[in-house]
Amino acid sequence: MKFKVNEIFHSIQGEGTRAGRPCAFVRLTGCPLRCGYCDTEYAFYDGQFMELGEILGTVQTMLGEPRKGPGAPFAELTGGEPLAIPGAPDLLRGLLGLGYEVALETAGSHDLATVPREVIKIVDRKTPGSGEGDRWLETNLDHMVPGQDELKFVLVDEADYAWSKAWCAEREVWDRFEVLFSPVHGKLDPAWLAEAIVKDRLPVRFQMQLHKMIWGAEQTGV
Ligand code: SF4
Repeated sequence: MKFKVNEIFHSIQGEGTRAGRPCAFVRLTGCPLRCGYCDTEYAFYDGQFMELGEILGTVQTMLGEPRKGPGAPFAELTGGEPLAIPGAPDLLRGLLGLGYEVALETAGSHDLATVPREVIKIVDRKTPGSGEGDRWLETNLDHMVPGQDELKFVLVDEADYAWSKAWCAEREVWDRFEVLFSPVHGKLDPAWLAEAIVKDRLPVRFQMQLHKMIWGAEQTGV
């Protein structure tokens, strides 16, 4: 089985509750969405075909022996939109089979029912400001694992904040999942967002993309 791979790299996880942990990233090529703020347009088309075994071998070389516990070696499948690629669930199963902790970064636009339960799903609920808010599959909430999976909102402006707050409250998603609110780099003032979360007593986690703070917004492969 072959996959078009944009890049495989070993870096620091920049987002989510595992931010700061070393992580091997497999970025697949291709995405049917076109979010206005997309920072991985280079992954829409460019890449090279690799066999499943070759991908797993590259990750294994980066991460070494699997271990359990909070410092367990960690791999993430990302894109583009990985679930738009046929065979992505097989790749996730392959990564799990190596014994690593495995996460998937997805836009929630494709059916999560195909994803193994043990995979930590970081699901980006696209907001109206992204321009792709209508791509959301509401049934995906039923396939997310409470206490394990994460719901992420990338906010373009204050209207996105109000919309996301109402969406979460209507479904009480914060009772089941870790909910992450982050500002679009260079668009929404991080201080405004942090203060709004505190003022509104929202049970969400503020986050900023660590890798952009370390290496800058334009750097790829980090
Ligand atoms: S889903 Fe991700 S990769 Fe695709 S356009 Fe949106 S931000 Fe870019």
